[in-house]
Amino acid sequence: MPNRSFSNKPVLLIVEDQVSDLKLLSAAVQDLAEVFFAKAGREALDIARQCRPDVVLLDIEMPGLSGFEVCRMLKADPELLHAAVIFVSAHTKTSNELLALECGGVDFIKKPLNVPVTRARIKAHIALRNEAKRLANHDALTGLPNRILLQDRTEQALKKARRSNGRVAMLLLDLDNFKVINDSMGHSIGDLVLQEVASRLSHSLPLQGTVSRQGGDEFIFLLPDVLGFDAIGDFAERVLATISTPFFIQGNRYNIFASIGISIFPEDSGDIESLYRYADAAMYQAKVLGRNRYYFFSDSIETSMRARHLLDHGMRSALEDGIFNVYYQAKVDAKNNQVVGLEALVRWCNNEGVFISPSEFIPLAEETGLIVSIGRYVLLQACKDAKMLHDLGYEIPVSVNISVVQFRDEHFLGMVESALKETRLEGRFLEMEITEGVLARDIDNAREKLMNLKFLGVGVSIDDFGTGYSSLAYLKRFPIDVLKIDKSFVRDMLVDKCDSAIIDAIIKLAEALELKLVAEGVETKEQSDALLKKGCQVMQGYLYCHPIPITQMCSFLASRVEFDAVSIENLP
Ligand code: C2E
Ligand code: CA
Ligand code: CA
Repeated sequence: MPNRSFSNKPVLLIVEDQVSDLKLLSAAVQDLAEVFFAKAGREALDIARQCRPDVVLLDIEMPGLSGFEVCRMLKADPELLHAAVIFVSAHTKTSNELLALECGGVDFIKKPLNVPVTRARIKAHIALRNEAKRLANHDALTGLPNRILLQDRTEQALKKARRSNGRVAMLLLDLDNFKVINDSMGHSIGDLVLQEVASRLSHSLPLQGTVSRQGGDEFIFLLPDVLGFDAIGDFAERVLATISTPFFIQGNRYNIFASIGISIFPEDSGDIESLYRYADAAMYQAKVLGRNRYYFFSDSIETSMRARHLLDHGMRSALEDGIFNVYYQAKVDAKNNQVVGLEALVRWCNNEGVFISPSEFIPLAEETGLIVSIGRYVLLQACKDAKMLHDLGYEIPVSVNISVVQFRDEHFLGMVESALKETRLEGRFLEMEITEGVLARDIDNAREKLMNLKFLGVGVSIDDFGTGYSSLAYLKRFPIDVLKIDKSFVRDMLVDKCDSAIIDAIIKLAEALELKLVAEGVETKEQSDALLKKGCQVMQGYLYCHPIPITQMCSFLASRVEFDAVSIENLP
């Protein structure tokens, strides 16, 4: 049975050993509350501990414990003492009635039952109990849940999070300059400010959350089921913005700010007390750092959030300032030493001149959606460079990496189309490198997009093949041209039999499905020879060419033409 202490529907427990009376009572109240039954005292106490009744209808004469004894025991239990006990009995002597009230009963209903009157009296007690509960669990000034209700909700949220490996955030908010307003403008204005703050906070609350007033100008948000730290940070930022919007009270304008400290289950702690303490410490830190800000308790979370923030900020300005570069790596047919394609790889050197690897910033750009703009920039640049190479006489296709987020973007196809149009590049000289994950979800949509790419003449490669999605069925359903054998298999193929066997399998698969093959990360002549022997001809890797800027790529291609010309001339 779930813990029902703060459920909305009132809970009523009928304790009665006479079946006929039980039937009458339950018919009288069944639409007023959620009803539980017990036929004897011990059973009643057990059920009450689980269902936490608001009202108990208690017979006096029962097998085992008497109604009086049950009532005393209920009143001695801190979890149950708030239940309103109504005695229902045929023992109508005055002394019984007095004893019932002395034991803690609130009313006495006589048998035989007058059903409409019984119902009306129970209804009145339920209403009283509801009001008492509301007063006990809510703050009188703002109407928000108070610390008692918050404590209960936090316990529930932690219990649930433990079961489902979830995450719960506690955000403690304290107004920065409330004392000044309260002291200078008087408490009645202070109260109006607190009411307005409470109303703004409730409006910013997600469906699942609770916002409570702890007292003074301190409020706590409880957010169950939160996913990432980013989402929590975003929420805190929104709350700060809500509070810092000027207040107009009785014709005067007030600028109010707040500081927020955040603690997280399970990262920071597993118990309520320390979550509260940590959120408080973090809030204090936010004040020290200059107020009107939020702060995560955990150092590591704080540090990583800060780093991500900086990275995100850096990426946005790099994009605006056109600082991203596109480098190219050649794909070489090892049999005749011809460059058969190029892969475009984005490069970013930040303001301090430090090179930042795409593996570091692309995942964040995917999370924030910035990858769509970065991807558009790379695609356009790659199309321009491919066209320029054509004009120089190198008719080789260029491939571009497409992230899942970019692929799913509704403007993706339009973007590809306009890049081709703008650069006057034929579709057949463009290739998209996508990972298996892109195809695994949303199959129909992915298929349609790929068909449209085909229609434009654009090729499709499966990047990092063998590392992602395990089903191979998609290979025959999608219009795919190339499988790129992931570099992790190539790296260890000479020392690890499994990797070698996986490469054999991929090559067989490509042959059977008539797909082209590219081996990635080829660094040594031995790897290249082994791949050739297995039947994979096209290689990409440091052995042949590092990723280089387009100008260098032009020289690289030119030198190879000369090299080819020289080698052909030297043929016997
Ligand atoms: P990827 O698509 O698998 O790209 C190949 C990566 O392997 C590149 O790393 C390349 O520099 C590296 N590489 C090439 N030859 C060798 C070799 O012989 N040995 C080794 N160990 N590595 C080699 P890079 O440029 O750091 O890119 C990393 C990943 O970032 C890429 O993996 C790709 O997933 C992503 N990425 C790069 N540029 C873009 C882009 O413009 N858009 C998107 N969405 N992702 C990109
Ligand atoms: Ca790639
Ligand atoms: Ca790859």
